[in-house]
Amino acid sequence: MPSALITGITGQDGRFLAELLHSKGYKVYGLLKGQNNPKTALLRDEHPYVELVHGDLCDLPSLISAVETVRPDEVYNLGAISFVAMSFNQAELTANVTGLGVLRLLEAIRIVGGSQNNPIRFYQASSSEMFGKVRETPQTELTPFHPRSPYGCAKVFGHDITVNYRESYGLYACSGILFNHESERRGLEFVTRKVTNAAARIKLGLQEELVLGDLEPRRDWGYAGDYVKAMWLMLQQDQPDDYVVATGETYQVREFVRLAFEAAGIDDWQRYVRQDPKFLRPAEVDLLVGDATKAQTKLGWRREVSFPELVKKMVDNDLAIESVGR
Ligand code: GDP
Repeated sequence: MPSALITGITGQDGRFLAELLHSKGYKVYGLLKGQNNPKTALLRDEHPYVELVHGDLCDLPSLISAVETVRPDEVYNLGAISFVAMSFNQAELTANVTGLGVLRLLEAIRIVGGSQNNPIRFYQASSSEMFGKVRETPQTELTPFHPRSPYGCAKVFGHDITVNYRESYGLYACSGILFNHESERRGLEFVTRKVTNAAARIKLGLQEELVLGDLEPRRDWGYAGDYVKAMWLMLQQDQPDDYVVATGETYQVREFVRLAFEAAGIDDWQRYVRQDPKFLRPAEVDLLVGDATKAQTKLGWRREVSFPELVKKMVDNDLAIESVGR
């Protein structure tokens, strides 16, 4: 039975990946940080097959111990401070967890090793935020990075150190440059879920308005359930490599809002949306759109959920959740 250790197990992608690996017959371990982590109960409820191991991306001994105890075939590093807006307020913490955390985990893998015939395979969750102020459109694996936030800077370090460990020590280490990927499990701090939840609550008469920041930025939004399949595929190849995972389509925040309100049965979304400068960021990423040709041709990866389907799935889910107990 193959085994995998996932950091960020309580996050959106950790939960989707745990399901995928479990369905493929893996023994799944999740790295859980902190005492009394509030998300433990949800995880135990939703994914009882996941075995939790204590450890923290900021603590190398705990990572060595986790890798030594589990002896996984594959390690997926999905743990990070992942909210861009927050990274401006807690830049040092973001650099430590999202950036240096990758180095610590790679080091733990290098120290523990794995067997000669079966070295531990490593996946790093890199991000389209690394492209930031984009140098070319669409963005590929070869597009230079120009991050626009402490989060983006930390992800660039994580990406580069992954490539460096692969080249220096021959580690089977891959970096997936994933563009925004969303789902019903997205946290409410991200614009997609904030919007679908508000559209549902406004429709149900539970909320009067939705307050947002900049409606102009464009993102390449896919479905998280599709994207975790690309992570797994990357670790099943003969050689480790880096891949862009994206839909190749881009939409403005404003278009997401319009579609979400429509899906909730509200045509005049402008009536309910107000903008507040407090949601603006010190530097913005204006446009992201990825070219996933390499992932498609080499991994055979395809996204299955379209943009309108993604928005509808999220709105339907929020309508169902918010209707309970009304
Ligand atoms: P990101 O692409 O990782 O930063 O994902 P987010 O969902 O946090 O933000 C996507 C885009 O939506 C960014 O360009 C934000 O500036 C923009 N945006 C506009 N209003 C809001 C808001 O109220 N919350 C968030 N999170 N983003 C907003």
